[in-house]
Amino acid sequence: MDKPETDSGGCLCGAVRYTIRSKPFAADYCHCRRCQRVTGAPVSAWMDFKAPQVEWLDNSTLAEYESTSDIRRGFCSKCGSTLTFRSVSHPQYLSLAITSLDNPEKYHPDYHIYTSAQMPWHIIEDEYPRYTEGKT
Ligand SMILES: [Zn+2]
Ligand SMILES: [Zn+2]
Repeated sequence: MDKPETDSGGCLCGAVRYTIRSKPFAADYCHCRRCQRVTGAPVSAWMDFKAPQVEWLDNSTLAEYESTSDIRRGFCSKCGSTLTFRSVSHPQYLSLAITSLDNPEKYHPDYHIYTSAQMPWHIIEDEYPRYTEGKT
């Protein structure tokens, strides 16, 4: 039997570290204004897991910001790196910033959401599906 795929990642300062025990089941580019403000980047790349597939190092300093009544955005309380995104109404899922991986080239988003907020100077030439708002 194959060993389960594992990858590791963490924040800029190294205080938050995680291991993932499977491949993400989905990955997207999010152009929404909240992601833009919280990351400082024009677009965020997220990968989605079932929550138990993500293991945190014991003393990781992950903190969460309540960006809406339903959404929690996780970041390192030391260096501020964006790391996670989750919905309290869907506690079985957890999204991680692809760029927080140690090998972020390994997984790539294959659709775009909230393109209504895409920066006009951010030219995208891929052929992936585009959703003006969230994907339902
Ligand atoms: Zn950190
Ligand atoms: Zn977003």
